[in-house]
Amino acid sequence: ASPACPLVELWITHVSTGDALSALGKASGDVTEDGTPVALATSSARYVNHRPQCRSNDKDCMQFRMTNGQLLPGRDANFGGTQTFIETYAATVSFGVSDGTCWYLDSAFCSTFHQMKKWSTPSNVLMATRLLCFFIFASAALSLLFRCRVFGALHRRAKRKKKVGGEKSLISCSCRKRCYHIYEEAATWSVLGVTMQLVLIVCPPMVQFQIFEPCFECYDFEGAAVHEIGHVLGLGHPNTAREEVDASYFDTYGTRGDNVYNQRLAELIRYNESTCYNTWGDVRNNTPPNAEVDSTGCKRGYNDELITGCVGIRDSVMEAFTQNNPSVCLAQDDLEAIHTLYPDCELSVTEVVCYKVHMHMHMPALT
Ligand SMILES: [Zn+2]
Repeated sequence: ASPACPLVELWITHVSTGDALSALGKASGDVTEDGTPVALATSSARYVNHRPQCRSNDKDCMQFRMTNGQLLPGRDANFGGTQTFIETYAATVSFGVSDGTCWYLDSAFCSTFHQMKKWSTPSNVLMATRLLCFFIFASAALSLLFRCRVFGALHRRAKRKKKVGGEKSLISCSCRKRCYHIYEEAATWSVLGVTMQLVLIVCPPMVQFQIFEPCFECYDFEGAAVHEIGHVLGLGHPNTAREEVDASYFDTYGTRGDNVYNQRLAELIRYNESTCYNTWGDVRNNTPPNAEVDSTGCKRGYNDELITGCVGIRDSVMEAFTQNNPSVCLAQDDLEAIHTLYPDCELSVTEVVCYKVHMHMHMPALT
């Protein structure tokens, strides 16, 4: 932590189409298919040294404090021979405000609609719901229109003429009388039937365009915030990790980013005071054996194109950002990642706990 601010500085702002993304920005930023920024997390990090003076002198000392209050490494611990850390001391989280980027706030309500995107492609699902909506609307409207035949009572003169055998005084009919015939016919309508027809005309378009489509097409603000905070904490995208390492870095060091897991935590074994000092020692490539792989995790956006180098990932809130599967609840993969980066020597949790907050804002709020 910097001397000026002992805590991490977190700045929340907005990002618009004009902001170009560097290769590094892509690793912690999230864009639409055409490259419009949706949300970005930019961390300011630096190398810091754990200073051995800590052992004798508290003044010139820099140590990491873990979530349980313990210092890492401990005063006398040898941290695998190296004493340099990467420290994030400030971060900026930006949310997209470009034209066409919209957000909804009630994640608990809206995120259920996104599950439907797994049925087919999202555009197919959207088209199917629109067709269904139109079909219900059109059936109700046509059947109501059919009832309008009662207005025919106004000009059924020919019929009456036939009935009374052409006697003139009986043929002509006052306006009042004609209207009376309409009322009489309309009075035979079923109240329930007409109510249903009106409800089916008004409701489907409202549900479709005011509730369903904003949820379906907009981004989940809470889900995005959770994801971006994940970037601030140092997590990348598991599915696109292999294509997001800066090209020059790859040329120099020859290593790519990769999706990893923590073997110990995946086996639900907690860290204790002796094992928690080197959590990276338990980190392995890809996914645990027999892990449940997210079926859509390696797909790029909405189409069936696969992400280069992606060999299957577990469900995670850190999957490269699409609207497909927003979640405010951490997955097992996320929990392991956080416990690897921020080890807790006493109370490490190995199973995800998620309390969903219902805000009861069922009309999605939009920006
Ligand atoms: Zn991201």
